[in-house]
Amino acid sequence: MNTAFASHQKQYLEGFFAGVNQRVGMPFLGQNAQGQFTDDPAQATEESVYGTPLDELCKEELIKHEQNGLDVWDTIVKNSELDQFPEAADMFRYKFYGLFHVKPAQDSFMLRTRVAGCALKSYQLTGLAEIAEDFGGGYADITTRGNFQIREIMPRNTISTLIKLDEIGLTSKGSGADNLRNVTASPTSGFDPEEVLDVLPYAKAMHHYILNNRDLYGLPRKFNIAFDSGGRVSVCADTNDIAFYAVRVDEGQGVEPGIYFRVQLCGITGHKQFAKDCGLLIKPSEAVPLAAAMIRVFIENGDRTNRKKARLKYLVDDWGVDKFLDETKKKLTFALETLALDQCAPRAGTQQHGHIGVYDERAADYYYIGVVVPVGRMLPEQMKAIAKIADQYGRGDIRLTAWQNLIIPGIRKEYVDTVKAAIVEIGFHYKSTTISGGLIACTGNAGCKFAASNTKSHAVQLADYLEANIQLDQPINIHLTGCHHSCAQHYIGDIGLIGAKVKVGDESVEGYAVVLGGGVEERQAIAHEVFAGTAFEDLKPLLMRVLQTYLSKREGQETFW
Ligand code: SF4
Repeated sequence: MNTAFASHQKQYLEGFFAGVNQRVGMPFLGQNAQGQFTDDPAQATEESVYGTPLDELCKEELIKHEQNGLDVWDTIVKNSELDQFPEAADMFRYKFYGLFHVKPAQDSFMLRTRVAGCALKSYQLTGLAEIAEDFGGGYADITTRGNFQIREIMPRNTISTLIKLDEIGLTSKGSGADNLRNVTASPTSGFDPEEVLDVLPYAKAMHHYILNNRDLYGLPRKFNIAFDSGGRVSVCADTNDIAFYAVRVDEGQGVEPGIYFRVQLCGITGHKQFAKDCGLLIKPSEAVPLAAAMIRVFIENGDRTNRKKARLKYLVDDWGVDKFLDETKKKLTFALETLALDQCAPRAGTQQHGHIGVYDERAADYYYIGVVVPVGRMLPEQMKAIAKIADQYGRGDIRLTAWQNLIIPGIRKEYVDTVKAAIVEIGFHYKSTTISGGLIACTGNAGCKFAASNTKSHAVQLADYLEANIQLDQPINIHLTGCHHSCAQHYIGDIGLIGAKVKVGDESVEGYAVVLGGGVEERQAIAHEVFAGTAFEDLKPLLMRVLQTYLSKREGQETFW
């Protein structure tokens, strides 16, 4: 066995064993007649769900209580045979299988996959292309959680889609509704020369732990987990409910020197909050059981009456971090250590747009190439071509980024120019342009009923216009989101655009409110509104003026924000 493989395998096992052996939390399903929690459905009372009386549960909780979303397989099969959509409650339960009924925009299903740690194999990308081609609308979108969404799947194709997904080693279980969303990891994990720790094994261990513990489905609300390697490319971990940051602790800090995780909690940028360090310093092998314990505390105590208050942030706001950690400790067999943040080596800076272009890997003479995929949209032939490049010139790996782009790692020096040419040949590029490399757009009104504007189309038009009219020497992130749900995280963009209907004369047209000044990691900031609803056509010259003002007023190489 080669040494690199052996060490990788050890990390996987470390994550798995820790998850299995050190877990104490029981898979609670409800309370028995004595008010005690039980994992035996037969003993669970019909009167409450984790202590919340049935008559106080919100609509979605009642649907989950009536039937677990994981149990609608037969319904999907039946509806697939009849080529019909399910009734309303099952529409919600379908999301446990990652199937979203998109109405009225497309009146079909959108499939959201899981891609553990944002890492795909070439055959999986090819398989996703075939799903998009055979069962979907002939395209697929990379999301800001480093996974793929495939749209325009008709009811008759739902089962074939889920089976095909399973056959290529992927799943969509728990990717929607009140579940643990795709577990993300720094997209350069394992080959980034600047990383503190290869976090992909831990993200994968977390992914499999979630998939194989039934009590971790049906949370009070959705929940995000990310692993940051400390390397060049950010995974926006500070926007997650739980963020693990790999850090180095040197001699003389009162703990064994080595590599640990810091733990940040309660990132939810749609509610204008980043995750905050909670003081914990844990061994990497403790990440999975710690997260599992925290999730179970949330499951048992989160708000199940009001969807707007059902995220982890609100439980921790209500209790305080200390009480939350005290409750977490009760579910663990190991003690939790704390260490002041400034006793850890500070995280090195991330490289803005470092996910685009050609960069050296840890191994000598190997490179990774970040590819610009405008607003994350790919056609099946492009997906297959990328998979082929990864097979032919790389290690057969593809990584997806939080900026809806992708990275092909493991390219030997002598093939770099060939790969660059191949990328251009299929209609993408690898040049870290100042705008399109940091362009993010949610689905918009072409596929989402909440959207006020056509975000993806506007994003591409805007980038074309700005790149043709202004020369920037600093990367800028522009995030377009169709509504306040913030799927494209407008509050963390240098420029954030939130879809709005705007009155122009007697007409209502598509437009955006403009927020400025957001960022993540060392540039962490929540953008604030500078311009109220502006018609899209007026937005182009408006943003030109904003960028020209930046260029004329900045001092030296001062960044946009
Ligand atoms: Fe739909 Fe709003 Fe999410 Fe955009 S941000 S995809 S409009 S829910």
